[in-house]
Amino acid sequence: MRTIVVGAGVGGLATAALLAKDGHEVTVVEKNENVGGRAGVFSRDGFTFDMGPTWYLMPELFDRFFAEFDRKTSDFYNLYRLDPSYRIFFDDGEIVDITPDLDENFRLFDRLEKDGGEKLRRFLDKCQDLYNSIIKTLYLDLDSPFSFFHREILSQGIKINIFESLDSYVKKQFSSDKARKILLYSVGFVGTPPAKSPAFYAILNYVKIVQGVYFPEKGFRQVAEALYNLAKSQGVEFLLGQEVRKIDVVDGRARRVLFDGSSLEADAVVVNADYAYAETKLLDPRYRTYSEDYWGKRMLTPSALIAYVGLDRKMDSLVNHNVFLEKDWGENFYQIFDPRYSKWPEYASYYVHVPSKTDKTAAPRDGEAVFILVPVGAGLEDGEDKREKLFNNVVRDLETKTGEKISDDIVLKQFFSVRDFANRYNAYKGSALGLAHTLRQTAFWRPRHRSKKVKNLYYTGQYTHPGIGVPMVLISAEIVRRKIAKELV
Ligand SMILES: Cc1cc2nc3c(=O)[nH]c(=O)nc-3n(C[C@H](O)[C@H](O)[C@H](O)COP(=O)(O)OP(=O)(O)OC[C@H]3O[C@@H](n4cnc5c(N)ncnc54)[C@H](O)[C@@H]3O)c2cc1C
Repeated sequence: MRTIVVGAGVGGLATAALLAKDGHEVTVVEKNENVGGRAGVFSRDGFTFDMGPTWYLMPELFDRFFAEFDRKTSDFYNLYRLDPSYRIFFDDGEIVDITPDLDENFRLFDRLEKDGGEKLRRFLDKCQDLYNSIIKTLYLDLDSPFSFFHREILSQGIKINIFESLDSYVKKQFSSDKARKILLYSVGFVGTPPAKSPAFYAILNYVKIVQGVYFPEKGFRQVAEALYNLAKSQGVEFLLGQEVRKIDVVDGRARRVLFDGSSLEADAVVVNADYAYAETKLLDPRYRTYSEDYWGKRMLTPSALIAYVGLDRKMDSLVNHNVFLEKDWGENFYQIFDPRYSKWPEYASYYVHVPSKTDKTAAPRDGEAVFILVPVGAGLEDGEDKREKLFNNVVRDLETKTGEKISDDIVLKQFFSVRDFANRYNAYKGSALGLAHTLRQTAFWRPRHRSKKVKNLYYTGQYTHPGIGVPMVLISAEIVRRKIAKELV
């Protein structure tokens, strides 16, 4: 069977490798010259940055994926656990570390509120329980309302009120502003405000605090490289630098994929490009499963202002992952998530990654590679002046909170923001992560893996169940592989 995969992001690479293993003749067509999609890499003047993902979480899910090919993660890259896992800078100047030593974290919570350590222990126990049952549902193909009544999902529903928000779940159990913020921030990983995300996303705290935060020796880019090599070893062909313009449908089946100046015949097509973009731009209206109106009404994850900054000095106050939390973050969420109030923020919570703390190849000797990410609303008008203004505010804040002056030591500065997400990845409204994980956009309610209108057209990647994040996208590839094996072969 000739199968074309549109896009070489993690989802496209993983699906291509699995399908080739199952005997498909697979060609991946990717618009950019490099593979990895959002998990790409940017290098200049001796500095190297992972452009997107930097937190390697849930290592067991990567192991499971590679095991499909009788390979181990260590066949591709070395993995280390970070200590501290991450550092949090609060607005009042307090700095705290979350570490691999659970007792240390309990002592931290004891300092933050009465019996905080014991509360955290109980909270994490519940999260672990939930994680163990949720993890089984992630691999399910939730393609019918009945699938939602799966045993594991029902048992999960008993353990937690699935209609409760994470915000309310955490606030009921913790009273101090700082303890709450530490536990609520986790959901930032799936680009959803705590008041809109279901309580079961509390499991992200189990993932980060108990399972731990890891890093591949030379950065996250090793994951994309591993998937690329794996796919090639299974016989997958790659056409890079070729933008797909149309998926040709005849008699309800995708027959051809047209890209710059050429085309390929197909027995099956798997789209890894953003779902909203692909449906609205690559298919004739009658073959779309979802209308423009449907996409217009979804809650999108924010876009971001990312600054890749090279310094010709070290920053001793930072570790690999650093989170700077604003005091009034409710206001900030409005500016980021609600299109009615969305605007470029004056101030914001932000995240700073310093790959050179652990990867000596990321920066020249005595230099530091600093990746700054500030969430901004998807679909906002982008412009150099807006980027510059926000960046300067953030750098001032960073200098105040770390006590380290850096503005005179910047030797490289490259921005990536709303219009770059849209141009480089065809990201719908420049959203960094696609659809947010509200309850109505999770599990069964996420867009289908198979088109409802075109029999042999499938979708893989972060827009589909189970959703955002590299480990989740690997699972979406497994689901698509199983569906195709069941439905087409
Ligand atoms: C800034 C940022 C930070 C993140 N941090 C983390 C993290 O720390 N940990 C984590 O696990 N996850 C993180 N994520 C999320 C994770 O990176 C994504 O969920 C995942 O990489 C998405 O993979 P995908 O294959 O679904 O999509 P993509 O990576 O977007 O892949 C889609 C591919 O399709 C291509 N394409 C689009 N249109 C066409 C066309 N017409 N023709 C051909 N090709 C096309 C695109 O160029 C792209 O290569 C982060 C994401 C971002 C953006």
